[in-house]
Amino acid sequence: MDLRFSEADEIFRAEVARWLAANLTGEFAPLRGRGGPGDEHVLLAERRAWERKLGEAGWTCVGWPIEYGGRGLSLMQQVIFFEEYARAQGPGRLGHIGETLLGPTIMAFGTAAQKRRFLPPIITGEELWCQGYSEPNAGSDLANVQTKARREGDQWVIDGQKIWTSGAQWSDWCFVLCRTDPAAPSHKALSYLLVPMRQQAIEIRPIRQMTGESEFSEVFFDGARTAAENLVGEVNGGWAVAMATLAFERGASTLGQQLNFHNELREVFERARANGANNDPIMRQRLAEAWMGLRIMRFNALRTLSQGDGTALGREALITKLYWATWHRTLGKLAMDVLGADSEIAAGAPYALARLQRLFLFTRADTIYAGTNQIQRNIIAERALGLPREPRPTGGTQR
Ligand SMILES: Cc1cc2nc3c(=O)[nH]c(=O)nc-3n(C[C@H](O)[C@H](O)[C@H](O)COP(=O)(O)OP(=O)(O)OC[C@H]3O[C@@H](n4cnc5c(N)ncnc54)[C@H](O)[C@@H]3O)c2cc1C
Repeated sequence: MDLRFSEADEIFRAEVARWLAANLTGEFAPLRGRGGPGDEHVLLAERRAWERKLGEAGWTCVGWPIEYGGRGLSLMQQVIFFEEYARAQGPGRLGHIGETLLGPTIMAFGTAAQKRRFLPPIITGEELWCQGYSEPNAGSDLANVQTKARREGDQWVIDGQKIWTSGAQWSDWCFVLCRTDPAAPSHKALSYLLVPMRQQAIEIRPIRQMTGESEFSEVFFDGARTAAENLVGEVNGGWAVAMATLAFERGASTLGQQLNFHNELREVFERARANGANNDPIMRQRLAEAWMGLRIMRFNALRTLSQGDGTALGREALITKLYWATWHRTLGKLAMDVLGADSEIAAGAPYALARLQRLFLFTRADTIYAGTNQIQRNIIAERALGLPREPRPTGGTQR
C-alpha cells in the first residue's frame, strides 16, 4: 500500500490551489466558507454564478470522462481537487447533485439523446438537480414508493408526494422514482423519470428545520408532466437505476470533504484555547480523540484509493459514510460542550446562529440522509462481509 501522492499529483494540487486563489476573489470573495451544512440557502444567485465560473474553467465534473465533457481525473486527483477546494474555503456546491448523482447515472443508463441533452448543462452549471426518492412512507424502505406515473400520449403524468427533497426550491430538474405498474411487486414496478421542476402542477413546500432555515421541502405532483423520452432505463426497471445513483452517492466526493471537517475542527480547537475548555483533562482527551478520528478518516481514504484500480472504489469504501457521519455528529456535540453556556446564546439581534451552532444542529442529520447508520451497517454486513440478507417485507433492497 503506497499512501504517498506522486509528483504529478502534487503539481496538479498546486494548479488547483493557484486557480482557486486567483478566482475566489472580487465578487466571489464573500462566498468563501459559505453554503455548507446548515447554510445551503444563502447567496443563491452568487453561488449560481460561481457554478458557471467553475464550469467555464473546467472545474466542474472533474471526475467525468473526457468524452462526456469532464476532466477524466483519477480518483486520487479528484480527492486532491476536493481537498484544495475545501482548503480555499470554496462555497457549498449548488451543482453537486447533478454532478455526483444524476450525471454518472445518465452516463451509465441514459440514451445517447439523454446524454446530449442533460450532461452539458450540468457541466456549465446552468441546470441544477434535486433527488425525488423519499416519501412519507418510503425512506429506508425505498421500494415502498407510492408516487405514480402513467403514460398519456408522448408524456408521463405524475401524481404523488415526495419529502425531504434537498434544494427543491432552487432546482430546475428532479429525478423522480415513481410507480408505473400498480399490479407488480413493489420494487419491480418502479421507473426513473427526469421531471422539470418549473411547472404549475408541482408545488414545493419548504420544511422549516431546527436551524430555522429550509434546505429541504415537500414536493407535491398533481398531474405534473414530463416528455416520454425522459425515462432513464426501462419502464418498471427504475430500481436498478435508483440503486446505481445511491452507489454514486457513496463515491469519491465524500472522501475529499475531510478538509471541510478539518476547518471545523480547527475552529473548535481555537474556541477551546480561547475559553480555556482545553484545560479540562476530559475535554482535552475528547479533542485529541476528534483529531485522531479525522486522521484515521484520512488514512482510510488513502488506503481505499490506493487499493482500487484508480477508477472504481473497492468494498472498503462501504464504511466511509458510517464513519464520517458518526465522527461529524460527535464533532457537533463536542463543539457545543467546548462552548459551554455560550452554545445556548446568540451574539445579538437578529439572533442568527453562529457557525458552530449550525454545525451542531445540522450534524444531527448526517447519520440519516444518504442512508441511515443502521442501513449502512446492513450494507456493510451484506455487501462487504457477505452475511445473510435481512428479510424485507417489500421485497426490494434498502436505500
Ligand atoms: C438533511 C436531509 C436531506 C435529505 N435529502 C433528501 C433528498 O434530497 N432526496 C430524498 O429523496 N431524500 C432525502 N432525505 C431523506 C433521507 O434519505 C431519509 O430520511 C432516510 O433515507 C431515512 O428515511 P426515513 O426518514 O423515512 O426514516 P425511516 O426509514 O423511517 O427510519 C427510521 C429509523 O428506523 C431505522 N431503520 C429503518 N429500516 C431499518 C432496517 N431495515 N434495519 C435497521 N434499522 C432500520 C432507521 O435507521 C431510522 O433510525 C434527506 C434527509 C435529510 C435528513
